[in-house]
Amino acid sequence: MTGSGGMTLTCLGTSDAFGVGGRHCAGYLLETEHGRALLDAGPSILASLERNGRSAAEIDVVAVSHLHGDHFAGIPFLLLKFTYEERRSRPLVIVGPPEIESRTRELYRALYREASSAPLAFDLRFVEALPGEPVEVADLRLEAFDVPHVSQGRSFGFRATSGGKSLVYSGDTEWTDDLLRRSSGADLFLCECTSFEGEVPGHVRWRDVDLRRSRLECRQLLLTHLGREMRGKAGLPDRLADDGLAVVVGSNRAD
Ligand SMILES: [Zn+2]
Repeated sequence: MTGSGGMTLTCLGTSDAFGVGGRHCAGYLLETEHGRALLDAGPSILASLERNGRSAAEIDVVAVSHLHGDHFAGIPFLLLKFTYEERRSRPLVIVGPPEIESRTRELYRALYREASSAPLAFDLRFVEALPGEPVEVADLRLEAFDVPHVSQGRSFGFRATSGGKSLVYSGDTEWTDDLLRRSSGADLFLCECTSFEGEVPGHVRWRDVDLRRSRLECRQLLLTHLGREMRGKAGLPDRLADDGLAVVVGSNRAD
């Protein structure tokens, strides 16, 4: 808990799908005074929570940007943990794109057939996110917006607001100038940046960001989902996320 009415972001996984340099796949813990949200849950989410001294039990909501494994394959492990290791009684909300419930249940069944058929001891609620219809959990408001990434289905970014602070997360997306509008006025824009200049279909290149730099109206920019080309870059003017980095949203200091 932040205790200040604001938000703290802890980067649990900042790699693209390939675990570059030993970093974990996508996962970001957003803590407000009264709530905890996980933005995406890559396959090793339990390890990255533990490494950062955080408890899965305290998560109120998991917001999934899209149904690629590096963003949602950790959810079955959360459910497994809540069944066998840290028996949960508090409700859990999972927000995501269409098919979030069926795809998560299919994945859980593929990985753990027995556990996935056992009844859960807590209330698990799946919510299909709809742009323009924010989901409110504790003192946190999450609103999805469409981004161009997957060819089948839908991909979202999220705007998270709490206590007058705001964070915009791009999810995975190719560059679109709509990101300028979405991130305008945000205290922190957590933007994917998979490559430096190499074309990676469906993803942002650093060159895309650099070209629009003068039009960005967020207070702070943090680049993440970093692929091999980006990890090798030094001396860029932008802050690069790393596993374990914690940022007070709306402040320039890192904790
Ligand atoms: Zn990804």
